Amino acid sequence: MIKNYTMHEDAHAFRFCPRCGGTLERKLLKASEPERLVCTGCSFVFYLDPKIAVGTIITTASGRLVLCRRAIEPGYGKWVFPGGYVDRGEPLTSAAIREAREECGLDVRLDGLVNIYSYAGRAPVIVVYAATAIGGTLAVDDEGLETAEFAFSEIPWENLAFPSTHDGLRDFLDGLRHPIRL
Ligand SMILES: [Zn+2]
Repeated sequence: MIKNYTMHEDAHAFRFCPRCGGTLERKLLKASEPERLVCTGCSFVFYLDPKIAVGTIITTASGRLVLCRRAIEPGYGKWVFPGGYVDRGEPLTSAAIREAREECGLDVRLDGLVNIYSYAGRAPVIVVYAATAIGGTLAVDDEGLETAEFAFSEIPWENLAFPSTHDGLRDFLDGLRHPIRL
């Protein structure tokens, strides 16, 4: 197996063993894998798992797409479709519908899976759905500066928050859809 990624960029955020409080150090345990955080006291290996996020590209009654401008880092001031981290035990589709409601005030029907995005050295795996607004009123929550609708030709490509925002919108506009069974 070829190792084409390194220890995750957030690894420096963890200094102590969650099991015994000992000091963690970086160790290469297997040549084919990234370095791991290993406790110098009890040898506990602190595996840093991916973090699952969902995003929802919502088409409104006017045929435009909903984007929110972020009021938090990372990506402060930049545009993203509604989304966020999935809670442990929460179905992906429930998270997508929940985040849409929380971040832009809309009730949505999921129409399909656009694609799943992951990037070398980055923790998030982003599952992006296509959806249609079926209720609610466009709004903004405390994580957003504003929410707006964009015609396909008006998408602010130069001011998108994340690689997955760019890639998800590109694939959505290319018509990429995978059927889902709800
Ligand atoms: Zn320990």
